[in-house]
Amino acid sequence: MKIIEGKKLAQNLNEELKTDVINIKKKFNLVPCLKVILVGSNSASNTYVKNKETMAKKIGIDSEVIRVPSEIKEEELLDIINKCNLDSEIDGLLVQLPLPRHINSDNIIEAIDPQKDVDGFHPINLGLLALGRPDVIPCTPMGCLKLLKSITTIQGKNVIIIGRSSIVGKPLSYLLTNNDATVTLAHSKSENIKNLCNKNDILIAAVGIANKIKKDWIKKEAIVLDVGINFIKDDMGRNKLVGDVDFNDVLEKVSAITPVPGGIGPMTIHCLLENTVKQTIKRKKINYKLN
Ligand code: NAP
Repeated sequence: MKIIEGKKLAQNLNEELKTDVINIKKKFNLVPCLKVILVGSNSASNTYVKNKETMAKKIGIDSEVIRVPSEIKEEELLDIINKCNLDSEIDGLLVQLPLPRHINSDNIIEAIDPQKDVDGFHPINLGLLALGRPDVIPCTPMGCLKLLKSITTIQGKNVIIIGRSSIVGKPLSYLLTNNDATVTLAHSKSENIKNLCNKNDILIAAVGIANKIKKDWIKKEAIVLDVGINFIKDDMGRNKLVGDVDFNDVLEKVSAITPVPGGIGPMTIHCLLENTVKQTIKRKKINYKLN
């Protein structure tokens, strides 16, 4: 096993979740309901939202995208969020990021009811994770943890995460620390980053720069998770999706690596839908334990 098949693991987990959704419907006559707010028509965001909606429907989750124009005022968006917070039918709510510049993302994230937050970005949910008392865990970090657990033990491992955003790097550092790894969180101001990387058993790249990480960064036999999603032009001038790690360059040196696409992306979507079902169980106070 050299290439970590995130897509396959996600498919298996989605099948299990589908069974849970069927059981919940049978036992409690309940269907989890997810609303996604999409501001504007950014093509990457459109694709992400479409993928989330398609998978939610496959699993049996009732899912709807609320599309609003990019010129929407912050107060108007806050109004929509407030209405969704008050609507008892809605179990999960997310606003697709990034938002247009005139809208303050922090205000938007903080306006979402933490009990309906399925991204796990609300300060209360991030705070609980940092304290080691997690409730809703951000989807990409959770996807990384599930993938790692499927191939190795985490306790005692030295892990370097490159990238300290609030949606990937930071929550992932809390999550792995809570799972007894020794975590280094690197960023654009880190010195000797290559040397730091060479000392770690597990490297997780969440930088957002195509093919940035080469084989001389990587410890021999390390496990590499590539979170990056970057578009470059191929030889024919077509768009090509690549990660932050130069896959072909590092392949011989690593013990395992996630591909892009087909690695972390499908796991992120799975975790979003799992969060939706978990929030439903909690909010509706039903006595059901996920498989
Ligand atoms: P972000 O908010 O742009 O953060 C990038 C991080 O990388 C920052 O902490 C930045 O450091 C650091 N960085 C930038 N240049 C660097 C360098 N030369 N050396 C070391 N660190 C550097 O990005 P993000 O939202 O975390 O996303 C990262 C990547 O993951 C993007 O490609 C994104 O599309 C992808 N992503 C994928 C998924 C998925 O489901 N697969 C989900 C989310 C994001 P500073 O803090 O010092 O600026």
